[in-house]
Amino acid sequence: MKKSIFYIILSFAIISTFTACNDDDPTAKPEIKILELGEGSSHGNDHTAYIGGELHIEVEVVAQGKIDKIQVRLHPEGEHHGESGDHDEWELDKTFTKFSGLKNTTFHEHIDIATTAEPGEYHFDFIVTDMEGNQSSAEADVILKAKN
Ligand SMILES: [Zn+2]
Repeated sequence: MKKSIFYIILSFAIISTFTACNDDDPTAKPEIKILELGEGSSHGNDHTAYIGGELHIEVEVVAQGKIDKIQVRLHPEGEHHGESGDHDEWELDKTFTKFSGLKNTTFHEHIDIATTAEPGEYHFDFIVTDMEGNQSSAEADVILKAKN
C-alpha cells in the first residue's frame, strides 16, 4: 500500500516537472540564412551592386515565435557608431512589417541604391525580431560600384 502511494506521488512529480519545463521552454530564436546578395537586375549573388541600381536580397527566415519585423541595414564599412565625423554618407535602414505573423518566409526584396552613395565596401545587416521579442541577425559584406 505504502509503495503504491509512493509511486502515485512520484508520477505526479514527474508530470509537474514536464509541465514546468513546457511552460518555461523558451521559443527558439529566429534562424536566418542569407541565400543571395547581389546585383538587382540579374538577381546576382556576388555581393556586388551598382550605384543607382538595386541590391537583390534573398534570405531564408524561420521564426518559431512568428516574425514581427525584419530590418535591413546597409552602411559604409568603417563607419560604425558614427566614429567618423562625416555623417553625410548614404546608408540604408529599412524596416519590413509585411512578413508579420509568419513562421517562415523567403525574403526576396530589391533595395534601391541611391545615386548619391559612395562606391566602396559596405556592411549588410539583416535583423529579425519575433513576436516574443527574440532577435537574431546575420551580416555580410557588400561592394557598391559605380555604373560603367
Ligand atoms: Zn531578386
